[in-house]
Amino acid sequence: MEVLQEVKPRVYKFGDKKADGNSTMKNLLGGKGANLAEMSSIGIPVPPGFTITTEVCTEYNSLGKETAVNLIKREVEESIENIENLMGTKFGDKVNPLLVSVRSGARVSMPGMMDTVLNLGMNDEVVLGLAKKTNNDQFAWDSYRRFIQMYGGVVLGMKPASKEDIDPFEEIMENLKEKRGIELDTEFTIQDLKDLVFDFKDAVKKRTGHDFPTNPWDQLWGAIIAVFNSWNGDRAVYYRNMHGYPADWGTAVNVQAMVYGNMGDNSGTGVCFTRDAGTGENVFNGEYLINAQGEDVVAGVRTPQQITKLGSERWAELAKVEEEDRIENYPSLEELMPSIFNKLNTYQNKLEKHYRDMQDMEFTMQDGKLWILQTRNGKRTGAAMVKIAMDLLKEGMIDEKEALLLVEPNKLDELLHPIFDSKALKKANVIAQGLPASPGAATGKIVFFADEANKYKSSILVRIETSPEDLEGMNIAKGILTARGGMTSHAAVVARGMGKCCISGAGALKINYKTRTLKVDGNEYHEGDWISLNGSTGNIIEGKVATMEPELSGEFAELMKLSDKYAVMKVRTNADSPKDAKIARSFGAQGIGLTRTEHMFFELDRIKAMREMILAETVKGRKQALKDLLPMQREDFEGIFEAMEGFAVTIRLLDPPLHEFVPHQLATQKDLAEEMHISLQAVKNKVAELEEFNPMLGHRGCRLGNTYPEITEMQTHAIIEAALNLKARGIVCKPEIMVPLIGTVKEFEFQEKIIRTTAAAIFEERNDTVEYLVGTMIEIPRAALMADKIAEKADFFSFGTNDLTQMTFGYSRDDAGKFLPTYLEKGILKVDPFEVLDQEGVGQLIVIGTERGRSTKPNLKVGICGEHGGEPSSVEFCYGVGMDYVSCSPYRVPIARLVSAQATIKSIK
Ligand code: PEP
Ligand code: MG
Repeated sequence: MEVLQEVKPRVYKFGDKKADGNSTMKNLLGGKGANLAEMSSIGIPVPPGFTITTEVCTEYNSLGKETAVNLIKREVEESIENIENLMGTKFGDKVNPLLVSVRSGARVSMPGMMDTVLNLGMNDEVVLGLAKKTNNDQFAWDSYRRFIQMYGGVVLGMKPASKEDIDPFEEIMENLKEKRGIELDTEFTIQDLKDLVFDFKDAVKKRTGHDFPTNPWDQLWGAIIAVFNSWNGDRAVYYRNMHGYPADWGTAVNVQAMVYGNMGDNSGTGVCFTRDAGTGENVFNGEYLINAQGEDVVAGVRTPQQITKLGSERWAELAKVEEEDRIENYPSLEELMPSIFNKLNTYQNKLEKHYRDMQDMEFTMQDGKLWILQTRNGKRTGAAMVKIAMDLLKEGMIDEKEALLLVEPNKLDELLHPIFDSKALKKANVIAQGLPASPGAATGKIVFFADEANKYKSSILVRIETSPEDLEGMNIAKGILTARGGMTSHAAVVARGMGKCCISGAGALKINYKTRTLKVDGNEYHEGDWISLNGSTGNIIEGKVATMEPELSGEFAELMKLSDKYAVMKVRTNADSPKDAKIARSFGAQGIGLTRTEHMFFELDRIKAMREMILAETVKGRKQALKDLLPMQREDFEGIFEAMEGFAVTIRLLDPPLHEFVPHQLATQKDLAEEMHISLQAVKNKVAELEEFNPMLGHRGCRLGNTYPEITEMQTHAIIEAALNLKARGIVCKPEIMVPLIGTVKEFEFQEKIIRTTAAAIFEERNDTVEYLVGTMIEIPRAALMADKIAEKADFFSFGTNDLTQMTFGYSRDDAGKFLPTYLEKGILKVDPFEVLDQEGVGQLIVIGTERGRSTKPNLKVGICGEHGGEPSSVEFCYGVGMDYVSCSPYRVPIARLVSAQATIKSIK
């Protein structure tokens, strides 16, 4: 019997309050497509259209263009017919034409990263039909010139010739404006627009050697393929790598009936947010332009007006515009078109409630009718993210667990960066004012080109406006300043997404790319000059302004408290000094998971004693040098114990290879020889003797303590004495002594014996005791496999995933930089395993190590102290393994606390 195989659709339709898809299908339809379907189903007016799935993008990438097109041809044709029926128009028709937009849409929003084409379906005949039908020649020809411009850029590769050049179509327009003595695009006459269309097509022919395509179907397939290609374009690849999004996600393609914001003064377009994306304040806000289309608002070509009256008043205050002038020339949408505003306000409320999160929406008004073109969970700064989550909770829109899950852990990082010192700000020389597009404090040297952002250690990228090509430079720069553009310009949206300080629309700035200068109020600033940006006020300040440490307060503190209510797994910190321990404690660390004792040896007087110890030829000589180090170490430990009063502190015995401590330059070798009264040759000999082919796999870790037991003895002395001293002062401390890099049980046993004997002798001598643990790091694969045997002896395990990753992959930590970037580029590895724990491989050793360890000691305390201990996906994994704690650098403690809570919530969901 023949079995009919069900064919999975590759194209999903939406429109007229119906849809094939819904908002849960983001992986298949992309974020935009899934939300368009959802909006259509819940009765929001969206222009009808269809979505080609992300899977087709992947098919296109593996099977090629011809096969991919064949796979979807019939469905695309049917879907166009569906739009035609709903709109009562026809694709390519000379009398009653349907025009469409073609947009990309990945499963996560990547603002400006991929491409959009509007008004597709235009040609020399269609434009006449459209003009006649709408009785609006201006609109029809304006739409046509925009189409050629976008299609030329996106599909036909008409880009600026060099970075100092502007877009070739913009150049033609600028020349015409100059000739005609006009400033704005809206001032073009019908004849100007016809001339532009002619000149644009001519420019395309000259640059590409081909005529501009006239057949609407050819145009449509060209645009669909261009969107697929844009997934692998430089911008998208960079954005994907930055966020760790895999290449095989692909992008969907959304094709939608055009609605027109450029049909005259009763039409327009805008972008709005249900709450403030910079601060999180619960105020509806956004920007619009009358008689404009699609990208005009985001591209920042004309500075747009505010949607709400409140927003408009705030804007006028910043821009120093008088109230009368504001009402006359810059009215809000609320004042200009109250009924449209009311509808928009109703939709924004409905959508925020529906999605239970802040929404970022795009809309178009066509001849007095409002259409919503897109909604998505809005990008926001770290501060806004925290405030919005806590506000939605207080408003009862979401519950505690949802509030915690709404916060993206890595973005908390932004709240932990320095802010401007308020005293320094009072003295600051403010040279200009722009829009506070993305809050924060940034100080750096001026650069004018994105690809030069790394010219200085700290740079501020100063642009007339930014474009998606500038992404990489924006990421490197400390802050972004633009002369044009509003709060929803590309620069503003992207900067907020990155949590980067940004000021936009600073109209007083005169930027000259050719001379690399910035003029304002008669002063001139050059590339390399220092400026500072206060992204919270929009103040542009001359020179460098001092910064200070942030603190956990307000909603951030509330969020952390809520996290601790749900978190089961504890968060400790990696800290090597009392200062770091104090910072970590103020961020909520519950103990120290790793103190790398060697870091204490690098300071001036200590390195000398350390070198003497290394150069000593006899045990006696070594002991003498160690004796000098003892009081210094003891003092350090006392400081750390005190800062962490009441919490456990894990101190690791000396770990790095000794060659790291000896001088490698002739001059310092000579100094050392002189100081130690030995010959230069003796120093040189010792340095040569310590040289290793693979120091990371050489004489380090417990191998040092086992060959030079006096080092372990001295360190135990310092730890136990420090603890006793604190006890005498009434301060509770819980030392945990950790043996590094063991691979065999015996290695641990030898060290443990030295530690316990030394401690016992001190207890006897001082006639006092403290409780302490002796545990080990698990960072060699063999140790993970032998964990049951090791746990019979050790009090605790701490996974050193830096070394465990090194040894499981066989990638040297010191040399991986030579090939890892290529591996990531080629997709051989999806992410850097030294940053994100390799759960499939290294993670399995952690699972085995923990299970085997607990098979012989059920209550074995287990933690992690490698760099992964502060990386969200790795922390979640550690919770799944059943670890008692993760330990990370002080600034990642709040992130790990949140992830720990999120992991608990996800596991009980
Ligand atoms: C580790 O290997 O993960 C670890 C924490 O130790 P270190 O980075 O000091 O080798
Ligand atoms: Mg290690």
